[in-house]
Amino acid sequence: MDKSELHKKFVKLGQEKSHISHQLLALLPEIFEKSVFLDYGCGSIYEYAARFGDGLSAGVVDKVLKLKENLSECPSLFETVATQGVHKVAIIASLANSKTEKELVEVVKNMSKDAVQEYSKVKRGKKVRIMTKIEMDEEMEFLFLKLKKKLKTVSNKETMKRLLQAMDRQLFPEEKVSGDGGVVKKITRYIPKAKKRELYQETLGRCAYDGCNRPIDTLHHTDGYSKTKNHNNVVGLCEIHHQFAHNGIDRPLVKMDLLYRRYRQRALVAG
Ligand SMILES: [Zn+2]
Ligand SMILES: [Zn+2]
Repeated sequence: MDKSELHKKFVKLGQEKSHISHQLLALLPEIFEKSVFLDYGCGSIYEYAARFGDGLSAGVVDKVLKLKENLSECPSLFETVATQGVHKVAIIASLANSKTEKELVEVVKNMSKDAVQEYSKVKRGKKVRIMTKIEMDEEMEFLFLKLKKKLKTVSNKETMKRLLQAMDRQLFPEEKVSGDGGVVKKITRYIPKAKKRELYQETLGRCAYDGCNRPIDTLHHTDGYSKTKNHNNVVGLCEIHHQFAHNGIDRPLVKMDLLYRRYRQRALVAG
């Protein structure tokens, strides 16, 4: 087997493994309700799950039983546990009711776990703010303090800001020329250089979603390129808000979104 075959085989087995664990967990509530475990010499569902479910932990058994109870009015959302796993579905369980169920099924099926997490926060009215803390090792601390002294800055925060701004200019001067900020362009059609540069200068490479502070991962056509055949409606989005854009969050779904969903599924399978 060459390296790429070895990798593909590993990825495929990894996906099959998680697929099987999702299905295994989805069966537990029915086994519990029908007390199947008593017929097979187990005193509890936990003992049964550990013995016949390849060592399933009590924690995960609890999680799936509780989720089933919380989603008793939303059976089609619970069904997604068999394909998406208990942890991903549990993230949005508190938002579920007969009115939201249909949308939540689509969200869970078509968005990554990170995007589902952020969707849940937005829907619960929580402000999404990334707080980045960095722990420095001894060498980093020395370099930092040395630069702080040279810059004559008063606070650590101010020092860090000055350093990051200088690094951005010095390490990536080519962004000012190509103008796409090193954006991954795999799913966007060809966009003229001048347009990219304009967009990058306007946004400084920041995601266009209101209040988002992450850098742009992809350039997205808000109306779908196939419809307008121009690049006037291109926006830069981070990976999570790109998923928001293609899953009808804040606006209705268009044909382009269905193509994107298929693309995303294929990309996940291909690794
Ligand atoms: Zn897009
Ligand atoms: Zn964003």
